[in-house]
Amino acid sequence: MACETLRHNCGVIGIWDNDNAAELVYHGLYSLQHRGQESAGIVTADNGHFYRHYGMGTLTQVFSGPDAIAKLKGRSAIGHNRYSTTGSSSHDNIQPLVAELRDGPVAIAHNGNLVNTRKLRRKLQEDGAIFHSTTDSEIIVHLMARSKHDKVRDKLRDAIKKVEGAYSITVLSNHALYAARDPQGWRPLCIGKHENGSWAVASETCAFDLLGYEYVRDVNPGEMVVIDENGMEIVPFAKPKKTFQCIFEYVYFSRPDSRVAGEYIDKYRRRMGKNLSDEHPAGDADIVISVPDSSNTAALGYASQSGLKFEMGLIRNHYVGRTFIQPTQTMREMGVRLKFNPVGGVLNDRKVVVVEDSIVRGTTLKKLSVLLRQAGAKELHVRVSSPPIRFPCYYGMDFSSHGELIADDKSVEEIRKHIGVDSLGYLSVERLLASVPQGEGIGYCTACFTGDYPTDVSEEIEYESKLRYSTKTGEET
Ligand code: AMP
Repeated sequence: MACETLRHNCGVIGIWDNDNAAELVYHGLYSLQHRGQESAGIVTADNGHFYRHYGMGTLTQVFSGPDAIAKLKGRSAIGHNRYSTTGSSSHDNIQPLVAELRDGPVAIAHNGNLVNTRKLRRKLQEDGAIFHSTTDSEIIVHLMARSKHDKVRDKLRDAIKKVEGAYSITVLSNHALYAARDPQGWRPLCIGKHENGSWAVASETCAFDLLGYEYVRDVNPGEMVVIDENGMEIVPFAKPKKTFQCIFEYVYFSRPDSRVAGEYIDKYRRRMGKNLSDEHPAGDADIVISVPDSSNTAALGYASQSGLKFEMGLIRNHYVGRTFIQPTQTMREMGVRLKFNPVGGVLNDRKVVVVEDSIVRGTTLKKLSVLLRQAGAKELHVRVSSPPIRFPCYYGMDFSSHGELIADDKSVEEIRKHIGVDSLGYLSVERLLASVPQGEGIGYCTACFTGDYPTDVSEEIEYESKLRYSTKTGEET
């Protein structure tokens, strides 16, 4: 069997000390559904017992039975939505993972992708570890199990110091809720507090808004948070000189109504649209439209800066999942049609600026340009609020292999021809960086645009090239 590691970007949430913790986590995961729709799970802790419910699909699919939530007893819980991209849609990979350590059970939910774990996994296996899943998250559990320390907080600190890459994790034990964010800060993680004294941690603050928790602050890169009967304690475990937050969280992944470092993502996305308009104006166009929903905010920025009118030229069917997540190319192509319908009355005889947040494979825009022209658009000028994606992401975004990326071997002009539009302009890396929060020690991972990986990813690259070779020859890796 081919050995594979899942790449995933996900949503995590934890609640400490509240009635109906499971229900709160359920609703929190609902707000974080955009971060993952492949599987969902919740684990609660109640007087020494752990309860777990999980399954494949969206939250409502997984928690459809009448007692799915009711059976999850306890005042503390963690939950996870998984957005997996490569292969292996298996039950074994659904999180939170639960493991029985020497001094009791722990549950763990992980957002991000660890790198260089193949050697670590093999070493653990040589030492007798039996893995139940292909997720890299399980490595953290095995490292915790092997730690000589007694306290879960020390075991966790031991474990995360041995891994590299992206992790924003929540861990639940019988006595505490823990959260940790890797020293580079790739994926977001924040802390919330309820007026009744309960604490929460979540991938994005939009989850707190729904649950009535107040956003306290982000978990800073290199920090662990311990929440127990004594309250909340911040325990720094690494001092990064510079962070490498995933800039794509700002471009696409996070919701615009979520806050990072106290500010709404909305603000940064609008800035991207404004900068895009400066870099690639579309002088005599009539209207600006977005590809809803992910580029709405950038399109508003573009419209306000250019003075062009923002119109809703595409209507999205909200009952279709993200097209990207459909496993085959044919389904993906169908998905675009299922998902968007053009509004003829808005588009007819107009020169249209279409603002899109990103082009990955080019599937969406290739289909959309045909639909928009059929609806009467006279000219199509595509403006993309991020630079060309030319390199795979090894930290959790689904740009997993060179071959899939349209900008891998095509110039902007070739992409323009491929998607069939009149002009195409991408935001530059410099202007993208100028759109996001600045400050001492704040840095961004832009590897998908530049190929400058902030950590050693040689194992991943080697694995990817082996995979390419084996796909050609049919050999196992
Ligand atoms: P494509 O059709 O392959 O060019 O993909 C571009 C579309 O996918 C855009 O509409 C983006 O909003 C969306 N997108 C970009 N990155 C991701 C991602 N990691 N997961 C899901 N959708 C994405």
